[in-house]
Amino acid sequence: MSFEKLAEIIFPEVKNPREYYIEKYPNRNLKEGAKVTRYAPSPTGFQHIGGVYAALINERLASQTEGVFYLRIEDTDQKREVQGAIEDTIKTMHNFGMDFSEGMTGQETSKGEYGPYRQSQRADIYNTFAKDLLIKGLAYPCFATPEELAELREKQVANKITPGYYGEYAKFRDITEEEALKRIENGEKYIIRLKSPGNPEKRVEFHDLIKGDISFPENNQDIVLIKGDGLPTYHFAHAIDDYLMKTTDVIRGEEWLSSLPIHVQLFEVLGFEAPRYAHIPTIMKQDGGSKRKLSKRKDAEAAVSYYKEVGYPTVTVIEYLLNIVNSTFEEWRAENPTTVYHEFEIHLEKMGKSGALFDLVKLNDVAKDRIALMKASDVYDNYIAWAKEFDEEMYKLVTENEEMSKEIFNIDKEGPKPRKDFAKWDEVKEKIFYFFDELFYKETLEQVELPKGLTIEAAKAIIEVYKNELNFNAGSQEAWFEDLKVIGANLGYCANRKEFKANPDQYKGMISDVAGAVRIALAHRTNTPDLYTIMQILGEEKVRERFEKFLSL
Ligand code: GLU
Repeated sequence: MSFEKLAEIIFPEVKNPREYYIEKYPNRNLKEGAKVTRYAPSPTGFQHIGGVYAALINERLASQTEGVFYLRIEDTDQKREVQGAIEDTIKTMHNFGMDFSEGMTGQETSKGEYGPYRQSQRADIYNTFAKDLLIKGLAYPCFATPEELAELREKQVANKITPGYYGEYAKFRDITEEEALKRIENGEKYIIRLKSPGNPEKRVEFHDLIKGDISFPENNQDIVLIKGDGLPTYHFAHAIDDYLMKTTDVIRGEEWLSSLPIHVQLFEVLGFEAPRYAHIPTIMKQDGGSKRKLSKRKDAEAAVSYYKEVGYPTVTVIEYLLNIVNSTFEEWRAENPTTVYHEFEIHLEKMGKSGALFDLVKLNDVAKDRIALMKASDVYDNYIAWAKEFDEEMYKLVTENEEMSKEIFNIDKEGPKPRKDFAKWDEVKEKIFYFFDELFYKETLEQVELPKGLTIEAAKAIIEVYKNELNFNAGSQEAWFEDLKVIGANLGYCANRKEFKANPDQYKGMISDVAGAVRIALAHRTNTPDLYTIMQILGEEKVRERFEKFLSL
C-alpha cells in the first residue's frame, strides 16, 4: 500500500524528494582508512565523565586516522534542554584536549558542509525521509492514544507476551489511506511509525568493533519515527544523520546495544549503507562486593565538573581514561614518560568487552605520577590557575611568595625518583601550608601532630636545647644531620637503632625523636619532605621564630 496523498497531507511543506539531500551531502574526500566519528550529546546540562570517555575514544580514532571528529547536538527532546549547554560542552571537551573539526561551534553557530549539526534544525531533512517512507508504504500514521498504548502494554505484560506495538497488536499498521485521511481531517493526533518488516524468528548477525560478533532477533516493533511534536526519535534521526554526515564509525555507550536491531533495520529500510558500530562498556564503580554504574546522584566523580573543582590536571584524567580504553597505555607511558599521549594509538579490539572499572585510587596514582614529572614552574602555573578559581587564600599566598612557592614545588623533584605529593590541586594546601606564616600560626596545639612515643613536653625540652645549639649554616644536609645527632646524644637520644634496642632504658629515645621534635616545631606535621630542605626554604629567621613560638604553645 502506498500513501501518496496522505504523505502530501501530512508533509505539505516537504518539497524535495529524498535524492535532494542524498546529493546535497556528497562523500567525503578523505584518505583511505580515515574515520569520521562524532560526539552526539543531548544538551541537558549535566556532563557525565562517561561522555568524556566516549568522546575521547571518538576523537582519538578520528585523529589517529586523519579523519573527522564532529559535534552533533541531539536536541529532539526539547523538554530536557538546558540553556548554555552546547557552549559548556564545547568548552569542557576543549579542556579535555578535544577540539571538533566540524559541527556546532556555539549555541547557534557551526562549521562544516554537512550541517545543520543540531537535530532541531533538521526537521525538513527528517520529514523528507519520513514522507518518502510513507509514500512507499514503509511507514504509517498511528492514532493510538497514550491511554490505549498503556492499556495494551498492561495486557501484554499480564499475558506474558512481549510488550510493544507490533504485528497483530499494532492496531493502525494496516490502516487505509482513506481512514487515515478521515482521522486527520477530524483533528485526531497521530505519530509516524515504521512498518517494521522484521521477523523475530529470524536473527541478524552483526559485528561490533568492541563486542565482536553478535546476533539478535530481527526487530518487529513498529517504532516511532516522528513524534507528536513533529520531531524525530533518536533512532530515526541518528540513522539519517550518520548517513548524511558520512559517519564511518558510530562509537557510543553500550546502553544503545539493545537498540541495534532497530538501527540495522532502519538503515535497510532507508536504503542506506550502515556505518560500523562500536558499543563502549559502561564505566562502573566497585561498591563493596559488587560493581555498579557511576551514579550522578551518589558519586561526585560522575560529574565532569568534579575534576575541575578538586583540581586534577585534565591531562591526568585523560591519561587515566586512556588506561581504561587500552590497559597497554600504562606500559607505554612507563616506556615513554615524556611523550604526549597523542602518540599512543588506541585500538577498539583491545578494549575490555564489558564493565570497565573506574577507580579513583588508580586515578590518583596516575595523577601523582604525572604531577611528579611536571617541572616546578609548571606545577606553580597549574596550581595558581586552579587556586584563582577555587582557593583565593592560597592563590594570594602562593602568588605573593612566588619564589618560595616554586622552591617548595621543586622539593625532591630533580632526582631520579621525583617526589609524588599531590594527585590534585586541592591537596596542595594541607601539604604545604606550614611554609606560610599566615596559615601556620593560625594552628592551635591540638592541631600539632605528635610523633609516636614523643610527648609535647619532651618535644619542647628538645627544642629548648636545639634552638641554642643549632648551627643554621652547617653547609650541607649531612653536616646538619651530624650536628643533630650530637645534640641528640647529649640530650640522651640514641643515634643507633641496634644499640637502642639492646639497652632501651639507658636512653630517652632515638635520634628520630629529636628530628621529629624539630619537624613538628617547624611544620606541625609528622610527615613532611626532608627537614633540612624545609629549613633552607624557610630561612634562619623564620626557623628560630618558630622554635620560640613552639615553646610558647
Ligand atoms: N544523544 C545520544 C546520547 O546522548 C547519542 C548516542 C550516540 O552517540 O549515538 O546518548
